[in-house]
Amino acid sequence: MRKITLSNGETVEVDCLSCGIASGLIEPDGGVVIETEHFHAHQDVAYPIRGLIILASKRHIKCFDELSDSERLDYINILARIRKAQRNALGIEYVYYFYKEDTTHHFHTWMVPRYEWMYEFGRSVESVRPVLLHARNEMNDRENVQQVTEAIKILTKELKSLG
Ligand SMILES: [Zn+2]
Repeated sequence: MRKITLSNGETVEVDCLSCGIASGLIEPDGGVVIETEHFHAHQDVAYPIRGLIILASKRHIKCFDELSDSERLDYINILARIRKAQRNALGIEYVYYFYKEDTTHHFHTWMVPRYEWMYEFGRSVESVRPVLLHARNEMNDRENVQQVTEAIKILTKELKSLG
């Protein structure tokens, strides 16, 4: 069991953070952006980047080859829908995607929008971690967090209207 401190200060104990979120035990800040039969999307507000999305499976699996046929279809469709919403509603031109199988949680894909300021950390995969840390440590001010929260609402609405 891992002890997780929620943004409201309460702590919960879960075996897997992704299971906790997918089951609704842990409510992510900003809420659920979109949910399908097999997947669940939210923003990890610990990294305040406008339009960043975590797309997690509902089932506790770790590796790509564990996805069932219907999960595979659902995954690629929802990934593309979120991407389209990021572009249409937030004007996001490029996104970096990453996903690792040796996670301590379960199957989840990060969709990290690329903004101009990020290029000072480079253009390759090595830039992702410093970018995330920079956001967490230097961009956690009220104004930015407000913009991030606003973007969650915009994306949620856009995804509803795209159907
Ligand atoms: Zn899990």
